Amino acid sequence: MATDVVDVIRTKRDGAPLSDEQIRFFLDGYTAGAIADEQAAALLMAIVFRGLDARELTTWTATMIASGARLDLSSVGRPTVDKHSTGGVGDKVSLILAPLVSACGAAVPQLSGRGLGHTGGTLDKLEAIPGWRADLSTDEMLAVLRATGAVICAAGGDLAPADRKLYALRDVTGTVEAIPLIASSIMAKKIAEGTESLVLDVKVGSGAFLPALDMARDLAETMVGLGRAHGVRTVALVTDMEHPLGRACGNGLEVIESIEVLQGGGPADVRAVTLALAGEMLSLAGIDPAAAPSALDDGRAMAVFDQLIRAQGGDPDAPLEQAEFVRTVPCPTPGFVHRLDARAVGVAAWRLGAGRARKEDPVSAAAGIVCLAKPGDAITEGQPLLELHTEDEARFDAAVAALTDAIEIGPEPPEPRPLIVDRIA
Ligand code: URA
Repeated sequence: MATDVVDVIRTKRDGAPLSDEQIRFFLDGYTAGAIADEQAAALLMAIVFRGLDARELTTWTATMIASGARLDLSSVGRPTVDKHSTGGVGDKVSLILAPLVSACGAAVPQLSGRGLGHTGGTLDKLEAIPGWRADLSTDEMLAVLRATGAVICAAGGDLAPADRKLYALRDVTGTVEAIPLIASSIMAKKIAEGTESLVLDVKVGSGAFLPALDMARDLAETMVGLGRAHGVRTVALVTDMEHPLGRACGNGLEVIESIEVLQGGGPADVRAVTLALAGEMLSLAGIDPAAAPSALDDGRAMAVFDQLIRAQGGDPDAPLEQAEFVRTVPCPTPGFVHRLDARAVGVAAWRLGAGRARKEDPVSAAAGIVCLAKPGDAITEGQPLLELHTEDEARFDAAVAALTDAIEIGPEPPEPRPLIVDRIA
């Protein structure tokens, strides 16, 4: 019987499961341009309300993977393991993790994205380094991966093209926030990339894409299940994103902080989350996870970072662009910092120029925020709490407005929050 797109939409609208044939008909037809945007938008909205069961989700994801190429990384000569973060504020962990895990003996094929809204993107951060190129051909990507054991670049258009088209439509139709759609979108790209193992960093808290713990856990479990179903060893850590990670939020500022961690220093929370994820990646790759701390401390991870940057056209020794205007936000009252709301800091950094509102907007390499005090730190009245960096002085007022109610100071030190909230395997 011929499948009809209006029947597919009605089936999901009325709460019945889609057949495998209906799912393939829809995704193949939409990718090929045979199904209109308004019909796809109607089906996506029906999925937001009705969901996809496990069988539908497996078929949906498999069809998105099959819409394009699946990379063959067998020539790399090391176990391959990647990491994906659902995105947060100050989350510069990928910049450290790829060279670190490579220094310990695995290969990390990191196909990354750009930032949108209040969270930053790995490619935008690395592009703050003069000369560094995110857009590599598949041959260039494989050459860098073989030579340095790590590569960080933009995903090519031939990986899961169905997702590229669907994601653009979801972005403008209020249909991003549905766990089966998010899980299949992320996992289709990661599975198509060809990695043998994958560690997911699912953020939870105000700065996360899904702030609530039950939603974050559900997303983590769904993605781990999809990885397994496609033969990719997958583990997820749910990690705290109530406060910014580290002190630096903004592209070039985060590169500087990443280099501090790669040299064995840097903020304790960035180091801890990096080492937790590195340990999971190394275990999945069959390498002793205890290797990671010394590779940070003895300079091996930093040496791979240098090679990786040079291999992609960058100059790791070149000075980074500095913001023309810097202003501090003083602490209103003495005490201990209890809360520094990650979302508010992310929005403020974005308004200073570090992020983009539309995919095609440029970002500033120099703009962002340095958190001079973090939750748990003692602080005096008037002491600088945040340092705002921008290239356009007119942006300060909107950034400061985003920070209203973002800061809480208490008389006693706050209870420390666990950084690693859950592990799903
Ligand atoms: N990131 C993705 O790649 N896809 C989503 O659906 C959400 C976040």
